[in-house]
Amino acid sequence: MVKKKNMQTNNEITNSNSLRIIFIAGAGRSGSTLIGDVLGQANKSIHLGELWGIFDYTTVPDGGVFCSCGASYEDCDFWSQTFETLFGEDWLLLFREWNFQKTLPHSTKLLLLMFRNKFWPGNEIPLFDANVKDALKALKRALHFICEREQVGSIIDSSKFGPYAWLLSKEDDMQLVVVHLVRDPRATLYSWVTKPIPMYDRETRQFSLRTRTWIESVVYWVRANFTAIFLRLMGLPYYRLQYETFINEPLSTTRELISFANSHMFDLEMSESLEEQLREKSLRLNTRHLIGSNPDVKRKAGQIEIKSKRNLKDLIGTGRFYLWTLIFLPWLLWLGYPILRQRDE
Ligand SMILES: [Zn+2]
Repeated sequence: MVKKKNMQTNNEITNSNSLRIIFIAGAGRSGSTLIGDVLGQANKSIHLGELWGIFDYTTVPDGGVFCSCGASYEDCDFWSQTFETLFGEDWLLLFREWNFQKTLPHSTKLLLLMFRNKFWPGNEIPLFDANVKDALKALKRALHFICEREQVGSIIDSSKFGPYAWLLSKEDDMQLVVVHLVRDPRATLYSWVTKPIPMYDRETRQFSLRTRTWIESVVYWVRANFTAIFLRLMGLPYYRLQYETFINEPLSTTRELISFANSHMFDLEMSESLEEQLREKSLRLNTRHLIGSNPDVKRKAGQIEIKSKRNLKDLIGTGRFYLWTLIFLPWLLWLGYPILRQRDE
């Protein structure tokens, strides 16, 4: 039933006022900021980072996290001009009141509620908190405003959080396609357990620099990827991309991504300069204004190389490599990753 409804929604999109969103799903540290930056350089599109943090990350006191332009969100013209024009000078107070991320259910809760409603019709529990509506309306206003100001038709949203994508997909005036980005889980895990990154706590509403334990990481990786697959099962337009494939063949992969989006009524165009750069396996990063996102990638500017990392087995150590291989065996087999060596990135 849900599937039908979605197909209908997709077919109905002929309205040029619809927001078109390419949603990057999957686990953090899988390369979503880079893929978002690449797609954001196609003509008529813009990468805005992890938009599900638009009302939370921008209002963390003491500059918990900065815009990728280097300024705090309050001082960044791109965002502060948008917010002040649409919501007045007190936008910060308004955003904090919404507490948007906290009102979103975790993926497990969302799934349980959906099953419950399916098998107990007539007594349905709403999937989302009623308070979410104001924030969602504001998000749409902000995105329309930005699309008009920047003269773009598509937004790249690298939020990855599945329940938020599901919320957006239910809006009649939003067209959402899902790019499920997968990276070798052993590489993602290594990044999580060794490199501290700023993580947002929905309870304290603060960022803190931390790593994950490897057990936490396994659970998180499986949940994030399962949620992305769930979006496909629910009938959303879906494309699975392996990060390593992108690193090896950035140009053809990007072409495929663009044509996937365009087959769902997007209007992205490969620009000549992007084509040239990807052919050389490089990307020129100009100033952009990302919400949240990987701090290492978002602060980069100028020309960067799209290149592979060191061999994973050497990097993480043989013992850990085989342990993680064992844990992720079904996923590695399913996704087509080599078992006993890292696929060349
Ligand atoms: Zn900025």
